Amino acid sequence: MDFDLTQEQRLYQRAVRDFCEGEIKPYAAQVDATGELRWEAIRQMPALGLTGLQVPEEYGGAGLDTVMASIAVEELARACGSTALSVSAHNGLCCGPLVNWGTPAQKARYLPRLTSGEALGSLALTEPGAGSDLAGGVQTSAVREGDSWVITGSKAWITNPRYAPVIITLVRTDKQAGARGFSMLLVEPGTPGLTIHPPEKKMGLNGSPTQMLSYDGVRVPLDALLGEAGRGFHQTMQTLDAGRISIGALSVGLAQAAFEEAVKYAQARRAFGKPIAEHQAIQWMIADAALEIEAARLLVYRAAWLKDQGRDFSKAAAMAKLMASEVAEKVCRSAIQIHGSYGYSREFPVERIYRDQRLMTIGEGTSEIQRLVIARHTLREFG
Ligand SMILES: Cc1cc2nc3c(=O)[nH]c(=O)nc-3n(C[C@H](O)[C@H](O)[C@H](O)COP(=O)(O)OP(=O)(O)OC[C@H]3O[C@@H](n4cnc5c(N)ncnc54)[C@H](O)[C@@H]3O)c2cc1C
Repeated sequence: MDFDLTQEQRLYQRAVRDFCEGEIKPYAAQVDATGELRWEAIRQMPALGLTGLQVPEEYGGAGLDTVMASIAVEELARACGSTALSVSAHNGLCCGPLVNWGTPAQKARYLPRLTSGEALGSLALTEPGAGSDLAGGVQTSAVREGDSWVITGSKAWITNPRYAPVIITLVRTDKQAGARGFSMLLVEPGTPGLTIHPPEKKMGLNGSPTQMLSYDGVRVPLDALLGEAGRGFHQTMQTLDAGRISIGALSVGLAQAAFEEAVKYAQARRAFGKPIAEHQAIQWMIADAALEIEAARLLVYRAAWLKDQGRDFSKAAAMAKLMASEVAEKVCRSAIQIHGSYGYSREFPVERIYRDQRLMTIGEGTSEIQRLVIARHTLREFG
């Protein structure tokens, strides 16, 4: 796809890659093993706009378009899945809604802190009993009491709350109104009644904290409402559409990383008197991976481009996320196969990348949900 990138895009890609090669990739195994992000690197991210990819410059962001943001997320993921997930969720799921629906006062309160490289934001949609079916399953509710909203309920599988100055929380504010009864509230950690539980013990992405939250009569002021009351479900769907482009880019980056490791290994490892890269069965895996990564990347760029044009990108984003996450799964599997036993060892990066990529067909809408979205759009197009 390089032939299609503009010079500006290529220069930015180069700058982000250089930063990631120096500050992120060499520490990816350590981040995975310790379960701690490398804040020394995150603090340097504002210089490249990575902690405020699409946040206006007046709030410390880079004001980039979605294609540029996708390029950045792919590069982060090529270096470290955990760092990429936390930074991507911060940008897409927390900064995004604040930029889209925040009042000037809300933006001024949170965005400079969020873009500073000292914090990472969080969005809490999922609950112990509701993931794919948020409209049917979300129980967390908020009621108006005097000059406050009082929140009761719990959230599960939330990225970054331990690092967040604000956790955007999806709540029901009108139990009778179905999908029109949701709102988003800005909740600050430290508010009495809010408990941020210890990070989940996960299969991969171990440096990216995933936590459960309990809201036990959490009281926030009325002006903690993000956007209009009753629009929370619509805001969620819009946020997830954009987030899917980012998970697509993240998947491409993980696949690209595993692919590069596999090609290098195939050229170095010998069997039956020649490098295994000269055996046709290995070449087929390399060819399929090269082809499928390229196809997935193009779908990600296309969805990003449609969004930047102000056109409907919901189906394109679902396609990009579905394709890229499933390609990542396949490419990482092949990368381990090419490594033989060494691929099964923690000594080689493909083992970690394989675990990290596994989330991508689940988070921000499972593959099954992406297929539902694509089918719904397609059937509508056919009348
Ligand atoms: C590491 C990690 C980070 C995360 N970060 C966040 C975050 O920051 N914020 C947040 O809010 N959430 C986050 N999540 C939650 C994630 O988005 C959800 O787990 C995901 O949306 C799936 O929901 P679920 O786990 O409840 O699965 P369920 O909805 O229970 O689905 C279970 C299975 O049923 C299938 N299924 C469900 N409905 C249908 C249907 N109609 N047709 C066909 N199949 C169906 C699903 O595809 C899946 O295979 C995170 C999760 C993880 C693991």
